[in-house]
Amino acid sequence: MTSYSITPGRAENITESLLRWYKENKRDLPWRHTQDAYAVWISEVMAQQTRIAYLLAYYERFIQLFPTVDSLAQAEEADVLKVWEGLGYYTRARNLQRAAKKITRDFNSQLPRTREELLTLPGIGEYTAGAILSIAYEIPTPAVDGNVLRVFARLENSDEDVMLPQTKKRAAAFVSSIMPTKHVSYFTQALMELGALVCTPKNPDCSACPIQDCCWAQAHGQQYELPKKSVKRSPKSLKKTIIIIRSTRGEILMRQRTEALLSGLWELYRLDEALSAPQAEAHLQSLGFILQTLKSAGQAKHVFTHQIWHMHGYECTVSGQCVAEGYHWIPKEDIKKLAVPTAIRFYIKQI
Ligand code: SF4
Repeated sequence: MTSYSITPGRAENITESLLRWYKENKRDLPWRHTQDAYAVWISEVMAQQTRIAYLLAYYERFIQLFPTVDSLAQAEEADVLKVWEGLGYYTRARNLQRAAKKITRDFNSQLPRTREELLTLPGIGEYTAGAILSIAYEIPTPAVDGNVLRVFARLENSDEDVMLPQTKKRAAAFVSSIMPTKHVSYFTQALMELGALVCTPKNPDCSACPIQDCCWAQAHGQQYELPKKSVKRSPKSLKKTIIIIRSTRGEILMRQRTEALLSGLWELYRLDEALSAPQAEAHLQSLGFILQTLKSAGQAKHVFTHQIWHMHGYECTVSGQCVAEGYHWIPKEDIKKLAVPTAIRFYIKQI
């Protein structure tokens, strides 16, 4: 690992001030009542790309349904995706289950205690491995997430681009250089918590910061300018048509997605273009349907990381044989058991 130069006095000052502050100011979160590695792992994966307040109910439900590695490994994938419904980034849920199967098979149902072994598990990268080792097992290992990167950039008054891998490596080396040998779990959580509550992206509350005396950005009035980030490409705008196709028996035409995005989730009939009502009517007839009714189901928009879907919706009742490949008639009462993407919830609610 890259080494980092920091004076022992400053390192000790940061570490001790952070630990004291954390003891008094940490949020009471359900996974902080345990050091169980499984619970730490689930909470860390859920917290990626998701606000803590939003995921609390998801976490409780997930742990209730799948309380152990074995229970997760043995679950039906559809049930795991159903509990995850609404959290997005479904690859995380699928990887959790794939990793659980590997842990059951290769590690006697215990999360491994080395970085190298943890990195062999699907979905576990440097950050999650560091979080599990330090938070659950008290093994000094840096866990550098967005919060920690920001705190690093500001403490060091560093204008390096935090999106670059070499900056993440330097941040990890910095964290290692200030990491204590005792209270490792608290220390890792304290650093993350400082980034979440005090050293926030837009308005760092430096006057309330326990390590303000050690912060070079604060000393130079640079805290609002940091961290430096290369500009992300803006998401691509895509037009979609979503059609709620109802049979005369009241079933709905749906398909389980196989595409990488939202793979395994169930969607309504979809076209990757915007159709006017007459165009939608002609399209449905070309599928072999005899149209009884067709009306607008409104417009909706959903923002993914790399795409924005602008959706035009229709609702129709049809008779006749369907030739749409991969689609199945689903009884209305069974739809609530399926995992559906948040992107089309607006239309699902109308069924
Ligand atoms: Fe962040 Fe301000 Fe604390 Fe520096 S003093 S670490 S900028 S909150």
